[in-house]
Amino acid sequence: MQCAVLISVVLGLGLATAAGSCYRALQANAALFSAIPFDYIIVGAGPAGLTLASRLTENPNVTVGVIEAGVYHQYDPLIDIPENFGQALGNPMFDWGFLTTPQSGTYDSEILLSRRMIGGSTGINFMAWTRASSIEYDTLEQLGNGPAWNWTGLLPYFKKTETYNPPYGSAVFPNSAPQTSEDMLLFHGESGPIDTSLTTVSQISYNTYYSNITYPFVETVNNLGVVTNPDPNDGNSTGVFNLPYTVNRALGVRSYAANSYFSLSACRTNLHILTSAQATKVLFDNGTDAVGNLVATGVQFAFGRDTLTANASKEVILSAGSLQSPQLLELSGIGNSTILSNLGIPVVLDLPEVGENLQDQGVVPRDFLLNPGTLAFDELRNNFTFALQQLAEYENMHDGIYAATIPAAVLVPISYIVSNETLQEMKANVTMQADQDGVTPLYKAQLDIQMQWLSNENIPFLELLMFPGGGMTSTPPNQGSSYMTIYTVFLHPFSRGSTHITSANPLTPPTINPNYLTHAIDSAVMAGGGRLGDMIAGTPPLSQFVSGPSTPPAGSDFLNYTKTYLQSIFHPIGTAALASRDLGGVVDPSLKVYGTTNLRVVDASVIPMELGTHIQATVYAIAEKAADMIKEAALQAD
Ligand SMILES: Cc1cc2nc3c(=O)[nH]c(=O)nc-3n(C[C@H](O)[C@H](O)[C@H](O)COP(=O)(O)OP(=O)(O)OC[C@H]3O[C@@H](n4cnc5c(N)ncnc54)[C@H](O)[C@@H]3O)c2cc1C
Repeated sequence: MQCAVLISVVLGLGLATAAGSCYRALQANAALFSAIPFDYIIVGAGPAGLTLASRLTENPNVTVGVIEAGVYHQYDPLIDIPENFGQALGNPMFDWGFLTTPQSGTYDSEILLSRRMIGGSTGINFMAWTRASSIEYDTLEQLGNGPAWNWTGLLPYFKKTETYNPPYGSAVFPNSAPQTSEDMLLFHGESGPIDTSLTTVSQISYNTYYSNITYPFVETVNNLGVVTNPDPNDGNSTGVFNLPYTVNRALGVRSYAANSYFSLSACRTNLHILTSAQATKVLFDNGTDAVGNLVATGVQFAFGRDTLTANASKEVILSAGSLQSPQLLELSGIGNSTILSNLGIPVVLDLPEVGENLQDQGVVPRDFLLNPGTLAFDELRNNFTFALQQLAEYENMHDGIYAATIPAAVLVPISYIVSNETLQEMKANVTMQADQDGVTPLYKAQLDIQMQWLSNENIPFLELLMFPGGGMTSTPPNQGSSYMTIYTVFLHPFSRGSTHITSANPLTPPTINPNYLTHAIDSAVMAGGGRLGDMIAGTPPLSQFVSGPSTPPAGSDFLNYTKTYLQSIFHPIGTAALASRDLGGVVDPSLKVYGTTNLRVVDASVIPMELGTHIQATVYAIAEKAADMIKEAALQAD
């Protein structure tokens, strides 16, 4: 929203007074950084990298170096103000701007997929804070990762990563039981005081501003048989619910890895974060350890025109995200030996699964015209007086529409959108396509699990996100009109893709091919989502507010629309999969790359299967768990 952007520039001035300011850990001198004898080097200052850096440097005797290609965008309104979500996308200041290869499932469109800064994607993401169902996390154990990788093993880390502020007042949705203190204790991190400053871990909270279509939306979905879920993060993720967000309500700003985990550690003398530096290769000892594993000794990186190295005596940890951790492995000689040899890269470890198993969820927004007088975010565009009032409220109270974002999510199992007969046909088609294509052991294991999930009422396959506002589709909104946007997301794609380097030049972006919608069932879920969106918009009490579909217009072929306008919801995973070696995993249960003694991957790329959720909470939890494992390993070694 243009008006919002202009206003945001003004708001930025206010934000500059918001937090403390010790940033000793940030380094701009690459030569000095290069000379430091590190215990650990972490590549990437996203949520995983900063969580690790913060936890490892709790021990003042441990020295950690972090190499990050982006910079710290402190007090930037495009990042901090919740209502600005999505506006930094594709902006080279914040984003690598990587595109996928032309996608055959979406009429050869190329889809944007990336991010870059202190905080990684958490500085640009849509802030939704959700966990998948407990059953989905238990699957990690089934993929040969041992008993520590399941819901029970991860729950303490989910709790550790958040400071949870439960919903109250208007944030308690219709037909929702209030969260009990017992639930809070079982499933959430301690609720901090409302005026908690930015120096705590992620602040989780709910919108305080709601359009007058939000409750009717929830009641309509209830009328269609979907119950209100008071807490989607307690292991049961289905239902309609108020979305928790990483927003610090005391300040009305995004709570992300930079102003939470980084702030916690930014003053420490044993943490050094070099920004504007791109890691180009992991360095290894000439020999191997006693059992023949490779020993990482440091990282080579590019800084301006210079190429430098930094040494790590204990471990190198890749937290560069699902697209760039595999890129770095390949540049370092770990990957499919044929790909590497063809590019003239000496093979140090033949691990063909690096960069394979890429999965991502697709999303398509569609909007509905609302009846005149309905209050939506469009009011910021249509009514300058209202916008100024909201601006004053944001500046004075850190609240109101500028502190708000998408209010409601609906997650349903596949049975909700297709008949049992159709489901059986779909399953048969999945099996047939797998037989035709031939499958890897990892995909075979995943397929068995996904087939079971199709019949499980507790596993959501479809997500609808309701935003009371327009401007999200390809058609610009009409001045004076208000809209409701429904985003349709398929949660468990059957399609698999890959990401690989195409050049030995580390500055050449990897090729990225998620293969969106190449499985018929993925398209069918999207089509089902379109029908469900129509049904919701046309059912009372919501229908009283809706004038009709806008983009695409009534009667359109929703699948065709989806294939034309599909975007990523930016949850790429799986490219350095956590799975047993037999199945084709890249990292073992301690997140070490198979065949290495001290090279770990800790980020979204280790998540072996797409989870039916937004994944940042899982990434933080994995990093918290990894930090404990690394500390434990150091204790054992001493
Ligand atoms: C637009 C968008 C919206 C999203 N919305 C949500 C949401 O609402 N809720 C949710 O749960 N999740 C959301 N996500 C996903 C979530 O933010 C990511 O899954 C998560 O941040 C991944 O964390 P990561 O640590 O694996 O990697 P990243 O966050 O990608 O961080 C990796 C970091 O490494 C750096 N890096 C990469 N290569 C190098 C190199 N060679 N040298 C130095 N540095 C390097 C990058 O610059 C980056 O800062 C969204 C993501 C995006 C992009």
